[in-house]
Amino acid sequence: MAVAGPAGPAGDALFEQAACGLLVTDADGLIIRANATFCAWLGFAAGELAGARRLQDLYTVGGRVFNQTHLTPLLQMQGSVAEVAVDLMHRDGHTLPVLLNIVRKPGEGTFLHHVSVVIVADRKKYERELLNTRAQLRELNETLSQADRNKDEFLATLAHELRNPLAPMQNVLQVLAQMNLGDPKVNWCREVLARQVAQMTHLVDDLLEVSRITEGKLELQFARVDLTEATQAAVEGARPLIQSAEHELTVTSPGLPIWLNADPTRVVQIIQNLLNNAAKYTPRGGKIHLSTETDGDSAVIRVRDNGIGIPATHLTRIFEKFSQVESARSRSQGGLGIGLSLVRALVDLHGGAVAAQSDGLGKGSEFTVRLPVAREPAPGAAPARREATEAPRKILVVDDSQDIVDSMAMLLTLRGHELCTANSGAAALEAAAKFRPEVIVLDIGLPDMDGYEVARRLRGEPWGAQIVLVALTGWGQKQDKEAAAAAGFDHHLTKPLGPNTLADILK
Ligand code: ADP
Repeated sequence: MAVAGPAGPAGDALFEQAACGLLVTDADGLIIRANATFCAWLGFAAGELAGARRLQDLYTVGGRVFNQTHLTPLLQMQGSVAEVAVDLMHRDGHTLPVLLNIVRKPGEGTFLHHVSVVIVADRKKYERELLNTRAQLRELNETLSQADRNKDEFLATLAHELRNPLAPMQNVLQVLAQMNLGDPKVNWCREVLARQVAQMTHLVDDLLEVSRITEGKLELQFARVDLTEATQAAVEGARPLIQSAEHELTVTSPGLPIWLNADPTRVVQIIQNLLNNAAKYTPRGGKIHLSTETDGDSAVIRVRDNGIGIPATHLTRIFEKFSQVESARSRSQGGLGIGLSLVRALVDLHGGAVAAQSDGLGKGSEFTVRLPVAREPAPGAAPARREATEAPRKILVVDDSQDIVDSMAMLLTLRGHELCTANSGAAALEAAAKFRPEVIVLDIGLPDMDGYEVARRLRGEPWGAQIVLVALTGWGQKQDKEAAAAAGFDHHLTKPLGPNTLADILK
């Protein structure tokens, strides 16, 4: 349909670029043509309004949405209607006060249409409102960011708090593992507990790790890593899950070692997370393939399964924190939706990349990790790890949690050490003066004085200089380690204490 407007290309340019809004509607208000200026005022691209919106849906009068009843008298007017004040509604919600001038024109045949000229009524008011809207958006943004930070802090605290009770549970399970329980049923109970505590520790550790990364507090311990060794450790870690689902795992690696300059624990974690996922999201008796190779300067690790697959729309989203594919939820054997976000963050920290590939639901998945290979030449044979044999020691364990001190004392006594325990700073100083321990394992967060203060006072005693002081804390950042060293600690260990972590110190 030909619509009124100045003729020719020059006229078109004039219509589009006029400083005022110009539009043509049909008799019902449906926009047939609107110039670029008018579209821009409402936050639309040029041409976006034509055929899509009705004029009466685009403005309010005195804050009320302008409906057909209000519009009809306007549309039925003949000739020029001067200065009808309305508020145009920008698509982001703010309003623009304008003066609307409508001219009713007969079109071809009996068809009637309206040509409207729209000019901004009160530019100052409009600018004020725009500034207000922007200020409100900024405020909203700040509120949401604060809520997001609160959530991250809550998750970090939650992970810490959950980790503390896990430490004595792990100690007790180790004590039980060393005892001859006799009754097979009791043994079975211990094994169930051990498996469940291990699973919970894994979840809590992942959560803690993600929180550390979010807060920028994760520190990598770079070392030379033989990728094949890391792969083997990851396979060992994932084996229980793979075996319990009766999957067949095949591993291919090149004959020569691939050297990385990386944090060995993290490399194992990356591969193990991918293997665990392959096991979780593949129906029983599936096939999982793990391969490593080099491609130029990159080490390439691939984990492929023939499981439930991933819809194309989710291939990048699954790496986001807490993201889970709806259809996979029922298959999941526990998970917080953070394993892959952790994988991506760890790979990023190593200067690598990770990608997921799947032909869709039911078609299996493949995850590819690329990590830079180490530049320096490969070293000679790595020194074999020395087995730590502990010499019997006099040890004082200090923690405000009775369960932690009792379970550690029991575990260390079983290993042949002589133990004493305390639950506060004052009690620790008193016990140390009487018991004269060779080693003190000291919690930092004590009720009466912090562990740093206890350490300083111990070092101030004539008999305190020779004691091996071990700080045990939930926080393992560089500044915590520095604070511990400044207070006189010889070692700084992070909770929960693994079975062999103390062994090296106690040799
Ligand atoms: P979680 O396994 O705890 O849910 P992840 O971050 O490890 O969290 O994985 C996120 C989501 O990605 C999973 O919930 C699942 O939907 C999907 N996913 C991950 N690995 C696979 C896989 N090998 N096959 C199919 N889907 C997968």
